[in-house]
Amino acid sequence: MSKGTASMGKKSGKSSHIICRRCGSGTFHKRKKVCSSCGYGKSSKLRTYSWSKK
Ligand SMILES: [Zn+2]
Repeated sequence: MSKGTASMGKKSGKSSHIICRRCGSGTFHKRKKVCSSCGYGKSSKLRTYSWSKK
C-alpha cells in the first residue's frame, strides 16, 4: 500500500492570484484586482514600456 497520493485532489495553500482575463496568466490579484503581468485592472491599456519594445 502506498499513501503517497492520499492528499491528492486537495491542494492546500492560499493563492491570491487567479487567471487574468486578458493575458491568460495566473497573475491577476484577487484583492488588488490588478494583473501583475499585463496590468489589467490598473489601466485600460496594456502595460507596455517604450524600453521593452523590441
Ligand atoms: Zn494579465
